[in-house]
Amino acid sequence: MPKSVLVINCGSSSIKFALLLEDQDFRIHGLAENLGTPEARIKGVTMGNEPIDISIPNADHRQALEVGLERLANYKPDAIGHRIVHGGTITKAELITDDIIQTIREATPLAPLHNPAHLVGIEATQRLFPDLPQVAVFDTAFHQTMPAHAYRYALPKYLYTHHNVRRYGFHGTSHAYVSERGSELAGSFKKGGWLTAHLGNGSSTCAIWNGQSVDTSMGLTPLEGVVMGTRSGDVDPSIHSFLASNLGWDIYKIDKMLNSQSGLLGLSDLSNDMRTLIEASEQGNEDATLAIEVFCYRLAKSLAALSCGLPQLNGLFFTGGIGENSAFIREKTLAYLPHFGFNLSKEANDSLKRGTEGRIDAGTGPQIWVVPTDEEGRIAKETASVVQNEVNAFLAKKSEAVSA
Ligand code: AMP
Repeated sequence: MPKSVLVINCGSSSIKFALLLEDQDFRIHGLAENLGTPEARIKGVTMGNEPIDISIPNADHRQALEVGLERLANYKPDAIGHRIVHGGTITKAELITDDIIQTIREATPLAPLHNPAHLVGIEATQRLFPDLPQVAVFDTAFHQTMPAHAYRYALPKYLYTHHNVRRYGFHGTSHAYVSERGSELAGSFKKGGWLTAHLGNGSSTCAIWNGQSVDTSMGLTPLEGVVMGTRSGDVDPSIHSFLASNLGWDIYKIDKMLNSQSGLLGLSDLSNDMRTLIEASEQGNEDATLAIEVFCYRLAKSLAALSCGLPQLNGLFFTGGIGENSAFIREKTLAYLPHFGFNLSKEANDSLKRGTEGRIDAGTGPQIWVVPTDEEGRIAKETASVVQNEVNAFLAKKSEAVSA
């Protein structure tokens, strides 16, 4: 089993990376941002928990990784795991081969901002660590267990059969980790029916039956579903023709508006950051108050809708920056779901410390838990397991050859 895994999450001008050691509790973290510009820098935390902030003017992805790893850890990993947003219909983490790179490339039209950046990251780490096994862990893979009635849109069939137009779902690594960890805490590991609410700058919900995703709020792209920091979530699709006919907007302008100028930011006309909105609302800002109310109401509606995918409802897990940290948002959301029997313990909800896991219901009705997500940990675990399976398969083949 690899003892240390480097987890890479590559964006178009940024890289988040973390080095996780199998038998130690601490990790190093780094963020390289503004890559390819004079402002490029790396921020992070070293093995000794020292903060670091280095200017790397005009550095590209490979140079940033080189500098970051050398400064932050001076430590060579045994394997590398890449977070890949869109893997099309791939169902599990895979060792990166030419075929897998081609699949990631082919899924680019479905994730035009993310997949090209992931390919740059893969190329950079392959050049930097040519001998190391590298694994792709897909955000979409966990949701490949959804039944057709959950993943098909009510659109002409050929759009699905010829053009892959269907619901894929995202945040799979987080929903998988949180539902496994949460059901373990609840004493029913990967058993029963659970809802997860991953609430961060991007947000999504998921319904999980016996450990498998049966429905989720995001769709063909990560725009569908609940209200997010800057993304609208669900809107009437006729918004496109309405804006085109009445305001003369083109498709790029509409897409940008829906992805980058909507959600909490659009509603409040103030910020995409929930903390800022809660503070502004407390000071009487009515737009911020409405943005929070729409966020919670739409979230509750999404959870209620997804419960249709579950034969029974054991409970709900909150996670992500907002889900883990805001007792206020959890309470407000659950206030819209009294008919599901949710019975929040105000005391447990308010007293849960930030970043800790814990149960927050009053002991009747479906359980309610806060489970801090660990996408990096999950990616490292899946990477290690794929590499180990490859080693086992190699050894089995070798021993077959010897005994033949
Ligand atoms: P993430 O994308 O998971 O890092 O989550 C980012 C979101 O979490 C931002 O909207 C933050 O404002 C929000 N957040 C973090 N801490 C809190 C908090 N204590 N209360 C409300 N929102 C929070």
